Amino acid sequence: MTSTPPRDSTPDSGGPLLDVQSLQIAFPAGRGVARAVDGVSFTVSRGESVCLVGESGCGKSLTALSLLRLVPPPGRIEPGSRIRFDGADILTLDDERLRDIRGQHMAMIFQEPMTALNPVLTVGDQIAEVLRVHTTLARRDIWSRTVDMLAQVGIADAPARASQYPHELSGGMRQRVMIAMALIMSPKLVIADEPTTALDVTIQAQILELLRDLRARTNMALLLITHDLGVVAEMASRVIVMYAGRIVEEANVAELFAAPAHPYTEGLLAAIPRLGREAERLQTIAGSVPPPTALPSGCAFRDRCPYAFDRCASEEPALVEIGAGHRARCHLIAEPARRADRREVVRT
Ligand code: SF4
Repeated sequence: MTSTPPRDSTPDSGGPLLDVQSLQIAFPAGRGVARAVDGVSFTVSRGESVCLVGESGCGKSLTALSLLRLVPPPGRIEPGSRIRFDGADILTLDDERLRDIRGQHMAMIFQEPMTALNPVLTVGDQIAEVLRVHTTLARRDIWSRTVDMLAQVGIADAPARASQYPHELSGGMRQRVMIAMALIMSPKLVIADEPTTALDVTIQAQILELLRDLRARTNMALLLITHDLGVVAEMASRVIVMYAGRIVEEANVAELFAAPAHPYTEGLLAAIPRLGREAERLQTIAGSVPPPTALPSGCAFRDRCPYAFDRCASEEPALVEIGAGHRARCHLIAEPARRADRREVVRT
């Protein structure tokens, strides 16, 4: 891909590329507010691949949308939240600077490309529009770069495909178009929200492979949102597990898979289909994520937790450090003997 310097580069800073601190996202509920995301803090370094994991309703997609200030109203990011991206304070940027960052430096790939693509414009025109807005390239160069990008994301016969409309392409090809649109400005961070959920298994694997390959070639950072820990194993170096609007565990991938500290993570891992695992041993976590208006007292996971004990109902666990880069939120961390006992009970 030919590279054109962005018209307005965001200054590099020495810290992490993305730094989210005490993020709270609230929605009106009755006379008060319900916090769908509550006190979430994490960072993403340059070139790093991080997965945000959890079931539907745990707050991961809202967290992702907040990074581009796209939280749908009436939801709002609460005062005291901080989102810094490459040295810029996202929550106080004026609209023009925010547009620059969205188009050039931080891009998003959505789950269902059919709703994100404009049905009345050709896919080539939609990608070219990004270049028109953010570069001073000549028209002919814009088109050749658009076609080049489509070829890079694995679309065969890219010149012809560029002139087609979204409905003329398969689901897998539309997702490749979305990826091309996200990457055309060589962003520093790509946020991909369940980018393969709507696709069949073979195409899913191809799209993940494409993202992995593009990341290796461009050194972009990737924040991947998924409910599937199987995807995490292939894509991320670090994992953040969310439950009911909060981070419940964070660790590097190898450690999280080898020694999950939170019962919710343990449950998610037990639900991954693996070659050779007997079907009856595949477990799902009973119940569903409680809405922010109906959280139980104490630990938000306690109604589903096989290890819950008295303290879990009365006291909310804090997110504590249990090793280098490994944090988790569970009372059992302070009581390893109880955990071992409970595990015996759960297994019998
Ligand atoms: Fe389970 Fe209690 Fe730990 Fe919550 S604090 S995850 S209910 S053991």
